[in-house]
Amino acid sequence: MSATCTVVIGAGPAGLTAAYELVKAGQGVVVLEESDTVGGLSQTVERDGWRFDIGGHRFFTKVPEVEALWHDILPPEDFLMRPRMSRIYYNGAFFDYPLKAMNALRGLGVAEAARCVLSYAITRIHPPKDQTTFEGWVAARFGWRLYRIFFKTYTEKVWGMEATEIQADWAAQRIKNLNLMTAARRAVLPRRNRKDVASLIEEFQYPKYGPGLMWEHCRSRVEELGGEVRMRTAVSAVRHQEGRAIGVTATTEGGMRVYEADHVVSSMPLSTLAKVMDPPAPTHVQEAADGLRYRDFLTVALVVPQRFSFPDNWIYIHSPSVKVGRIQNFGSWSPYLVKNDRTCLGLEYFVNEGDELWNDSDDELIALAKRELGALGLVQPDAVEAGYVVRMPKAYPVYDADYKGHVEAIRAWLAEVAPNVHPVGRNGMHKYNNQDHSMLTAMLTVQNILGNGRHDIWRVNVEDDYHEEQTGKAAAGGSAREGAGREAPLHPRRQTAA
Ligand SMILES: Cc1cc2nc3c(=O)[nH]c(=O)nc-3n(C[C@H](O)[C@H](O)[C@H](O)COP(=O)(O)OP(=O)(O)OC[C@H]3O[C@@H](n4cnc5c(N)ncnc54)[C@H](O)[C@@H]3O)c2cc1C
Repeated sequence: MSATCTVVIGAGPAGLTAAYELVKAGQGVVVLEESDTVGGLSQTVERDGWRFDIGGHRFFTKVPEVEALWHDILPPEDFLMRPRMSRIYYNGAFFDYPLKAMNALRGLGVAEAARCVLSYAITRIHPPKDQTTFEGWVAARFGWRLYRIFFKTYTEKVWGMEATEIQADWAAQRIKNLNLMTAARRAVLPRRNRKDVASLIEEFQYPKYGPGLMWEHCRSRVEELGGEVRMRTAVSAVRHQEGRAIGVTATTEGGMRVYEADHVVSSMPLSTLAKVMDPPAPTHVQEAADGLRYRDFLTVALVVPQRFSFPDNWIYIHSPSVKVGRIQNFGSWSPYLVKNDRTCLGLEYFVNEGDELWNDSDDELIALAKRELGALGLVQPDAVEAGYVVRMPKAYPVYDADYKGHVEAIRAWLAEVAPNVHPVGRNGMHKYNNQDHSMLTAMLTVQNILGNGRHDIWRVNVEDDYHEEQTGKAAAGGSAREGAGREAPLHPRRQTAA
């Protein structure tokens, strides 16, 4: 096919993957990125020589093409294999995560453990009536008492809503077919007899200087092969006429500029894309865009002496008395992220843009984070030597009762008026997913653009596979690298032109 020009919106994993695949195929590409950093949610922030993630970013995938691309982009010496450890902190004690029945019951003490088992037995006899919500679904499987200790607080911190408002799909995807009985059976059965749930991930890949390193390298590759990556360039309109997109308008410090396009690959939030279409989308599509919700995120990175370090990559904070939801220890992610006998802890707060915490000043947030570290007994507040705040809007696309309908309304309208606009990635498709999923949607989209396939991008990850656990044969022989704690994309049935 002759060379086309594709405008890619966003220089996160999806946008840069699309750009790289296109330039490798000899196509013209311009990437427009509104911020001054590549990597999107997978960027590595740098402050005073400290590098830290927006959340920790493990690299794991079941998709060989994605794995191959990571290793094509990053030289082997820059890609580390790191041990994984994470625990739950509750009531002054640490519990293994993923939960292990005996460890959890031991940590709770004999009396509390007995109350939890009794509560489970009662719940088996009188199960919650409504199991369509997160609360009912989990309580039915673990009993009310364990549910309150290990599931309710953290989940409500993450989503900022009552567990009774969260759909059961979320729990089903994360916890799959586990319940207290299977967890207990796992704990006592010899390893070879465990057919139901398999080994837990013990290590993962991680770029030496954080995930941003991958995307900094990828940007260089795109530019070396003739693509353009324009930073601080925010897309404000996608122009379409006669059933096709024809160009993109973007704003930079220098003013507005129009980029003509044969194709537009968009990793900007799907709701924003629907809003910037020009001529505008009809009312029902605009309403669908308004209906898509997000959860926002802020991290307070604190520099502390190495003696306060811990072996975990991160710790879940279940104590309801503090607002912090999770604490990353970046020194455990990579020794190259920390220096001078210090480590950097990332205290993560799940927020809504514009709420009280979001609007607090950086000094107030650093003071809060120091107080909470002290209250948890992890670090004395006066041992903290420096603090940095990063606010990240739209970190999590929310799966509420209406999101599927909204996504479908936008998808169907776009397919009708501008089939050469290709939504990809996490917020780009409003899918709660990882880098590998975002990259796969971009790779398959490029195959579609090049005429090498007719993939249904919306079907990537239809079979959600929470691979903290693996079942059957894969479990018995599978390597730790195959599973790492979040859902992973599976190929949709390939629909090649042939
Ligand atoms: C706390 C947290 C932890 C995570 N942990 C992991 C993990 O361990 N492993 C893993 O693989 N994944 C993880 N993820 C998921 C991963 O971050 C995402 O899947 C991935 O970054 C999505 O890539 P993307 O390119 O689709 O979107 P994004 O990363 O969101 O990139 C989109 C880009 O588009 C730009 N943009 C938006 N609007 C415009 C506009 N109007 N004009 C121009 N540019 C625009 C944005 O600035 C951004 O750079 C995590 C995410 C979070 C929030």
